[in-house]
Amino acid sequence: MGTDSTIEVTTVSRENIGEDKLRADETHEGEVAAVSHVRTPQKVNLRALDHDELVAFMAELGEPSFRAKQVEDWILKKNVRSFDDMTNLSKALRAKLSERASLGGVTLATKQESEDGTRKYLLKFADGVSVECVGMPSKDRLSVCVSTQAGCAMGCLFCATGKSGFKRNLTPAEIYDQVAFVAEDFGHRATSVVLMGQGEPFANYDNTLEAMRLLNSPDGLGIGARHITVSTSGLVPQIRSFSHEPEQFCLAVSLHSARQELRNELMPGVRKHSLKRLHDAMADYVNRTKRRPTYEYAMIAGVNDTEEDLTALIDFTKGTLCHVNLIRLNELPGSRFKTSSEEKIERFKKVLTAYGVETTVRESRGNDIDAACGQLRQRRG
Ligand code: SAH
Ligand code: SF4
Repeated sequence: MGTDSTIEVTTVSRENIGEDKLRADETHEGEVAAVSHVRTPQKVNLRALDHDELVAFMAELGEPSFRAKQVEDWILKKNVRSFDDMTNLSKALRAKLSERASLGGVTLATKQESEDGTRKYLLKFADGVSVECVGMPSKDRLSVCVSTQAGCAMGCLFCATGKSGFKRNLTPAEIYDQVAFVAEDFGHRATSVVLMGQGEPFANYDNTLEAMRLLNSPDGLGIGARHITVSTSGLVPQIRSFSHEPEQFCLAVSLHSARQELRNELMPGVRKHSLKRLHDAMADYVNRTKRRPTYEYAMIAGVNDTEEDLTALIDFTKGTLCHVNLIRLNELPGSRFKTSSEEKIERFKKVLTAYGVETTVRESRGNDIDAACGQLRQRRG
């Protein structure tokens, strides 16, 4: 965690960053996100709809489902800001859409910049719900960390997101728009994406996968599948589904303890997905995909960094294709959880490596602006 003196907070209005930098339309008065299923007299924000909702909305207008697909392509792939640009739709339909719908999108609420160049954004959707996302530049690369839900229902004890509850799932467009927004703000294409912001991506599986596909698509942002990583707290059925997805997306699993009792306590939301079932599902994942998953392990002093914890972690990982990421715990204000000593972290790394388990210590970025793992909070809105 950084000290207050290192914090540089800038509230950015549209004027500050320039109208042309914003890809999305302003939220207009009278708009409402369709997720609330309020249709008339207010306009429905088409960007807030997932595919099925868009099909349903178009059906309400008497249009077949292929029209919904056309509209979706205009919004996501071609990023148009006006219905008039949707040139493969009839004039009459464009007029009807302008009357009934809008092309909402994200607006910037606040932006903070860290000493290390990391930028954290609070982005607001058309219905007023907001999420945080982070851009991390390095040399000619830009990594973007995005949220998949507003808040999170999993309740992990060490995580700020988990502490502030769940609001709603994000749509594929809302997940995608975060990456597009950050890339535009940096004036650089996103070279990798981690779905490790707020929320449990696999509790919003379909929308998350659709967003990953859009990010990967040459019609979308064209980010290589191997540069798109999704992190889950360990929802076993979804890990199994993920093993069957054809793309070479990467998988990270938040482990944090390989002792069932302790994991139950630290991560109450995944209690029913036992370590044994997780281990089996991961073995199947590796068999099927031949890809190396990552286990994230935030080191908490006196909690999960004892010799017993190390032995359990070795038992869980040794002999399997995996990578262990040891993370210095980002301490939350008022929390009893503190990060482990450097000695402990080094010992874990050394012993795991000696057992043939590929292990690194992850460098945290953006700590001074609370942009690091587990520090993204749910805001009012
Ligand atoms: N919900 C998903 C993805 C978002 S959290 C998941 O849990 O995997 C992204 C990562 O940050 C996870 O590995 C999570 O366990 C970790 N994390 C949460 N709180 C943290 C904290 N205080 N310090 C370090 N890492 C933390
Ligand atoms: Fe949710 Fe992940 Fe935080 Fe757990 S660590 S509360 S699953 S965001």
